[in-house]
Amino acid sequence: MVWQYIYLFVIFAAVIITFWIAVYAWQHRNRTGSLLFAGMMLSVSEWLFTSGMVSMSRSPEQARFWVDPRYFGLTAMLAFFITFVVQYTGHGKWLTRLRFAIIFAVPIVTQIIIETNSLHHWFLVSVDFSQDGILMGLDAVRYGPLFWLHTVYSYLLVLFAIGLIVRMSIRRFSIYHEQAVFMVLGVLPPLATSVIDAFLLIPGLKHPLAPLGFALMGISLAYAMYQHRMLDIVPVARDLVIESMSDAMIVLDSRANVVDINPSAQQFLRLDSSEIIGKPFTQVFSPWNELAKQYQGKIFAQSEIVAHVAGQDRCFDLRISPLRDHRKQSNGRVIVLRDITLRKQTENQLHDTLVTVKTLQEQLYEQAIRDPLTNLYNRRFLDEIIGREMERASRLGHPVSIVMMDVDSFKVVNDTFGHEAGDLVLTRLAAILTECTRTSDYVFRYGGEEFLVLLPATHPQDAYRCAERWRLTLQKNSMSYAGQKISVTMSVGVAGVLPGGETPEDVLSAADNAMYRAKVNGRNCVEMFRSYS
Ligand code: GH3
Ligand code: MG
Ligand code: MG
Repeated sequence: MVWQYIYLFVIFAAVIITFWIAVYAWQHRNRTGSLLFAGMMLSVSEWLFTSGMVSMSRSPEQARFWVDPRYFGLTAMLAFFITFVVQYTGHGKWLTRLRFAIIFAVPIVTQIIIETNSLHHWFLVSVDFSQDGILMGLDAVRYGPLFWLHTVYSYLLVLFAIGLIVRMSIRRFSIYHEQAVFMVLGVLPPLATSVIDAFLLIPGLKHPLAPLGFALMGISLAYAMYQHRMLDIVPVARDLVIESMSDAMIVLDSRANVVDINPSAQQFLRLDSSEIIGKPFTQVFSPWNELAKQYQGKIFAQSEIVAHVAGQDRCFDLRISPLRDHRKQSNGRVIVLRDITLRKQTENQLHDTLVTVKTLQEQLYEQAIRDPLTNLYNRRFLDEIIGREMERASRLGHPVSIVMMDVDSFKVVNDTFGHEAGDLVLTRLAAILTECTRTSDYVFRYGGEEFLVLLPATHPQDAYRCAERWRLTLQKNSMSYAGQKISVTMSVGVAGVLPGGETPEDVLSAADNAMYRAKVNGRNCVEMFRSYS
């Protein structure tokens, strides 16, 4: 007798649990599959409730009253179950409106047949109840052909659903393995117990076992939802992201076999998933043998690679990351390839443009600091450099010398041989000065026929000797122009700054002064501003 109380208690407890799961799923109906899951649990709850009411009936008539609505819960549950599993395992696209309507038409048609059973007895031929303790017991039952048809249909659907779940758990990540195990475990007790009930496998059994089977399922599902976030992470949502993303994604197991691949990766490899899944990574990537070898054993990588795809070299951002299961153990790898060819091209173009701009800037600067006729530095650059050089010299304790030169009677050259001949003289003097100075010296065209040399780290005494040499070189180098010989001389002024000495303006005017003295002293000579010792 006690077991009968337990029997009833379990059934009505399961009514409450499954109803609660239905409400919970309804509250989370924005998640994929939740509404179907809610419908399924509501149907289970209804079926359990009517099963309990049959058992609690006080007369066979009362029991028969509850038998009919009981089937509705069962058939509706199946329709919800199969649609939920189809969506949960990522085959939602298969569920067209028509297929959905057909699946849900089955419970409605079945219920109409059941409600009109007394007219044709196609579903149920006869059912006899009698009181057994506190429960109403089933004495004998004879089913009609439609019952068996519906039973076969139901079992086929359940087997199909289990097949979908098992397939998904083989192909997807570990978190879904556990969910899948709970789903299959949840389905097994109702399946087994309803087979026992339908085929009367236990002779003399007066009370159906299926309600207990469904109660177990309810408990298993409630556990799965609490412990394994069953409705929180529906694989479908992740699948949609992975399926639709433009990055190629390939998942390898711990033995480097491909276990999952998204459409972008299939397109990239130009292979169908059926030709890839289960195959070794090196075989799938055989067109890129070198790359495959390079990254074969790596569980972590982040680099840019170039691969030959569809007749052209394309640039990819390659990332390999380890996949870990809930025990933090490495479970395989995920490879993500992002095509960055376009970005690279743009980057390269930008780089080229920057180089061009830089070269142009340098050219512009060169033009701005050089004299076009002689290609020597101009006065602008002197203003820029003289302060810097003098500061450096005073910091290092070095002297700086300035040599200022002016071509003697240049006006006469112009007047006698023409302006072009004058230009020739200027370029020749520029060449002499460039040749005769060190690379650390700066040679300037200071004005029309005035030149200036800045000699860093040179004592004015030494600068004087240099200037004298240059003066002699110019004097000796006569030039020929249009068959005529042109000889010129220059007057030179030398000034210097000793460590801690004058300002740039002071030293320039000192050199100018010395040069003026050279002019006054008869030209073609070198004058020192003062004696530097
Ligand atoms: P001094 O011995 O006193 O220096 O006499 P000078 O004739 O050299 O002096 P002046 O300043 O009177 O003449 C300089 C001339 O240089 C005047 C100008 O026409 C000429 N000149 C200036 N720049 C250029 C140039 O780029 N090319 C040519 N051919 N002549 C120039
Ligand atoms: Mg002059
Ligand atoms: Mg002159």
